[in-house]
Amino acid sequence: MENEMNRASSCRTADSTGHDRIWAQIDMDALIFNMESMRANIREETKMVAVLKTNGYGHGAVPIMKELEKLPYVWGYAAATFEEAKELRENGAKKPVILLGYVFPYCYRELVRLEIRPACFREDMLEQLSAAAAAEEKPVLIQIAVDTGMGRIGIRPDDEGLRFVRKALATPGVTVEGMFTHFAKADEAEHGPTYTQIDLFTGFADRIRSELGYRVPLCHCSNSAGIIEFKEANMDLVRAGITLYGLWPSDEVSRSIVPLRPVMTLYSRIVYIKEAGPGVSVSYGGTYTTTAEKTRIATVPAGYGDGYPRSLSGKGYVLVCGRRAPILGRVCMDQMMIDVTHIPEAREGSLCTLIGRDGEETITMEELGDLSGRFNYELACDINARVPRIICGAGC
Ligand SMILES: *Cc1c(COP(=O)(O)O)cnc(C)c1O
Repeated sequence: MENEMNRASSCRTADSTGHDRIWAQIDMDALIFNMESMRANIREETKMVAVLKTNGYGHGAVPIMKELEKLPYVWGYAAATFEEAKELRENGAKKPVILLGYVFPYCYRELVRLEIRPACFREDMLEQLSAAAAAEEKPVLIQIAVDTGMGRIGIRPDDEGLRFVRKALATPGVTVEGMFTHFAKADEAEHGPTYTQIDLFTGFADRIRSELGYRVPLCHCSNSAGIIEFKEANMDLVRAGITLYGLWPSDEVSRSIVPLRPVMTLYSRIVYIKEAGPGVSVSYGGTYTTTAEKTRIATVPAGYGDGYPRSLSGKGYVLVCGRRAPILGRVCMDQMMIDVTHIPEAREGSLCTLIGRDGEETITMEELGDLSGRFNYELACDINARVPRIICGAGC
């Protein structure tokens, strides 16, 4: 009975958002729930950095930043590029913004002006940042990147690395505010390699203290997986990325330690339904041909031009009236066809859930990632600018 009610209530047509083609609903209550949930699993003194790169993993960086400005335990934000950081500043981010990758010299003066903290690991960066600080008559705060096992950016935690830190500490106009490393395998069941990275990082911070007499004010290494699984990695800060959005770093990470709620739901609407007899081919290449006496084919106005994976052609499904409607044939750039033969209530205007829950059925970003041969992070990032983000709170 209850299920019938859910099913009936999920079969919606009338609650138009004004963005009927495709839209991503962003649940800010879920976002805050995820922050609090992570917060409950870290040390009281450890502050949080919200990772907002790639437009907040496709969720919309600016509205999320505005929400997080209000939370005292959120120390600041992390972005990947100067332009992302600048966008946050220009939209009212008062908290610190750090950059997680290399940034090119063209932006150094503006970066100093906007008090954006770059990751630093190249001597030429120190010199160029120092020049920018002099030109702006303002110090630049840097975060030294240390490579303890990613093989990506960052100085090594060895004698040469120590020489770099010494040079950074002596560079006029440059203040070493923080130092960080990044885990390569914190989302895997085997924890040994992450402990090795933690030891290398803390050992290096100890050497800086004992040999250079400097306690780096903000040391940090945890990403989402670290926040969930490695209490030892709670230092001055942790960097929350994928978990902020209610998504999981991998399926090897525990689901019970930090409960999460997905922040994004992706919707569209059926715009056309036709009935076809047997032998009718559907979409480019005719990779699907009807066989049944009668098939109801619905057209959904969403496609890979919105970031919905074309690799879901003939494999994926969407939810209509609380039931699964398989994708028929190829996903096009702006449209796709689904089978609603078994969903007689489906009609033109019916809501389609591409990612999210409808009645008893759920399609998660993780499931869609697996089905499409992609990665949940990638899928979220790829939902592009053509898809409006609709912000909402409880019960949306
Ligand atoms: C992207 C990134 C993060 C966030 O990673 P999640 O797995 O999404 O938590 C943290 N730190 C660095 C350096 C990153 O590049």
